[in-house]
Amino acid sequence: MAQSSIEWTEMTWNPTTGCDKISAGCKFCYAEIMSKRLQAMGLEKYKDNFEVRIHEDALDTPYTWKNSKVVFVNSMSDLFHKDIPLDFIKKVFKVMNNNPQHVFQVLTKRAERLLELHAELKWSHNIWMGVSVENEKVKDRIDFLRGTNAKVKFLSLEPLIGPLPDLNLTNIDWVIVGGESGHKPRPMDADWVIDIQEQCNKSEVAFFFKQWGGKNKKAAGRILNGRTYDEMPEIELQRSI
Ligand code: SF4
Repeated sequence: MAQSSIEWTEMTWNPTTGCDKISAGCKFCYAEIMSKRLQAMGLEKYKDNFEVRIHEDALDTPYTWKNSKVVFVNSMSDLFHKDIPLDFIKKVFKVMNNNPQHVFQVLTKRAERLLELHAELKWSHNIWMGVSVENEKVKDRIDFLRGTNAKVKFLSLEPLIGPLPDLNLTNIDWVIVGGESGHKPRPMDADWVIDIQEQCNKSEVAFFFKQWGGKNKKAAGRILNGRTYDEMPEIELQRSI
């Protein structure tokens, strides 16, 4: 487990590592870049760089945290990657089910497999299930997510590289929007962000604006309409401390 600088979480927990690219949003995959760095630093967990690997020894970690945490699960991988066996996904879910004091945020681009497997998994209230949607081409991921039994459902619209008008936000609890950062970030149009914020407002969905992104993401900041948007699903407020 590691502290996270990601604005919408507190910690990361990586019972699996590694992945491969599936859509345009993966172009500058942060996990891939980090894996290379961690491999170069000699970390055993990343010795195979970005190859998909499961880590049984990481399963005990959430039991050791003293206080309630908000945890991004698999920041270095995609839990629903085809090379991660259902048995192992079940083990990860069992850990999350057994630790209701923590909120676990699971994010995938493999929404089709998520829907295929969802009935085999136990969806406790502390599991927030999200899909990444970077442009219109992959909007069907939202429908796959909607078809699951996840109690809390969210969208990560990051890196937002195209407009997303007419989002179906039925049964969606939370939307995160962010622009791409790095050396050659693809631009995010302010109108796309404002449109999504208005759609969330209309549908009464919690809206979180993470960042404008760009080459200097710190300087670009995260102010929209003269303010920050840090809304979270209501259930977050109910978690025990
Ligand atoms: S799905 Fe996520 S972890 Fe996998 S390559 Fe794409 S951005 Fe990286």
